[in-house]
Amino acid sequence: MKWENRGSELEIIGAKMKQKKTIIFYGVDEQTIEIFRKVEFLRCNVIFCDGNLAGQSIGSSIIYTLDEILPKLLQKESFLVITTDDREEQILLKKKLILKELKENEDFFEAGVFERVYLPLWAYYSYGKCYVNFINHIPNYTCTLKCKNCSASIPYLKQKNPDVEQMKREIDLFFSKVDFCYTYDCTGGETFIVSDKLVEVLSYLLQFYGDRIGKIAITTNATVIPTDNMLRFLAEHKDMLDISISEYQTVSGWKEKCDAFIDTLNAWKIPAYLVKASSWIDFGFRETTLRKDNQEMEAYFDECGNFCRAYINGKLYYCGHGHWANSAFYSKEGLDDDEAINFRDENLTKSMILEYNLGYVQNGFLRICRHCKGWGTRNKCHIPVAEQIEDNRVKVREV
Ligand code: SF4
Ligand code: SF4
Repeated sequence: MKWENRGSELEIIGAKMKQKKTIIFYGVDEQTIEIFRKVEFLRCNVIFCDGNLAGQSIGSSIIYTLDEILPKLLQKESFLVITTDDREEQILLKKKLILKELKENEDFFEAGVFERVYLPLWAYYSYGKCYVNFINHIPNYTCTLKCKNCSASIPYLKQKNPDVEQMKREIDLFFSKVDFCYTYDCTGGETFIVSDKLVEVLSYLLQFYGDRIGKIAITTNATVIPTDNMLRFLAEHKDMLDISISEYQTVSGWKEKCDAFIDTLNAWKIPAYLVKASSWIDFGFRETTLRKDNQEMEAYFDECGNFCRAYINGKLYYCGHGHWANSAFYSKEGLDDDEAINFRDENLTKSMILEYNLGYVQNGFLRICRHCKGWGTRNKCHIPVAEQIEDNRVKVREV
C-alpha cells in the first residue's frame, strides 16, 4: 500500500479494535499456546474455550464450553480466535457465530489472520504497544557455502560485519520503540562462524530485553561446530531458542559435517530441527528485467506474504531478501534506504512502525520487487537445492 497518511492510516479499523478487551481462544492445542505467548505481554484478559477439555485448566485459567462464553462474545467487548485446526469444526463454529450476527474479522478471526494482521493492530490501538512479529538482525555476511541462489545473496555481498558494540546499540534502539518482538532472528550467512561474538550479543539481548521477545531464532547450514562458549549458551537458554538446520544434501561432504553437528548438539542436549526441501525457489533478483507498471507493482507487492523484515544499522527494511539483493546487484542504481524506516528518526512513531510492518511503503511497492518472481507458493520458479557457484569465485553481475 502507498503510504500517504503516516501514523494515521489505520485509525478507523483501530477504533473498532479498541473496544475489545478480552481474547477468547477457541480450541486448546500447541498453536493456542504459541499465540497466547504472543499476547501475554499485553497482560490482557484471556479465556480458553474447548468443548472437549471444558472444566480442565491451563495454569490458573479454566477451560469453558462455547455456550458458556457466548454471552460474553455477544457483548462485543471480546473477540474469539479460532485455533482449532479441524476444518469441519471451524466451519460449524463460524456458522454458529454468523447466525448470532457476529462478524468475521471483527468479532472472530482465524488464527493466522489474527496473528499477522489484527494482533499488531489490537496491541497498538487497545494498549498503545508496538508489536513486531519477526525481524532478522544479521550478525554475519560470510558463509562456508556459496549457493548460487542464496535467498540472502550472501555470496554476492561485500558488507562488513557489524561488531558487538554496534549490535548492542542497535538492539537498544530497536527496543526504544518496539514493546515486543516475537521472533528475534539472528541468522546471517553461516551464523556459527561468529559464535563468540553472537554469545555476547544474545546474552545482552536476553539480559536487557528477554521479557520483550518470544524467542531467538537461528538457522544454520550445520557446517561449523559452534564454540564451547556458544554451546554452553545454547544449552542454558534452550527454552528461548529455535534452532533450525537447513538441509544441503546436494552439497558434497555436507552430510558428514551435519552428522557431526547434530552429534555435538545432542551431546549438549540442545534441541534443533532439520528443515528438508526438495527444491528451492529462484527469486529472480539477478535478472535485470523490469516488470510491470507502477499500478501493477503495487498490487504485486500487496499480494506478497514475505514476513522477513531485516533490521540493519538501525533501519528496518520491509523485505530482507529484497534489501540484500538490492545491495548485491543494484547498488549502482541507488540504495534502498529511502524505502526503509529509520529507528534513529525521532519522528518515527509506534503507529508508523505498525503501518510499515503491515505493508505501507513509500511508493506502494519496493523498487526491487520489479526484479522479483515472488515469495512462497506464488513463486513457481523451482530450482535444485543449494546449487553452488562452480568455480568457487564469487561473481557480481554488472547491471
Ligand atoms: S548456506 Fe547457502 S543459502 Fe545459506 S547463507 Fe550460505 S550461501 Fe546462503
Ligand atoms: S515481491 Fe519480492 S522483493 Fe517484493 S516484497 Fe515480495 S519477496 Fe520482497
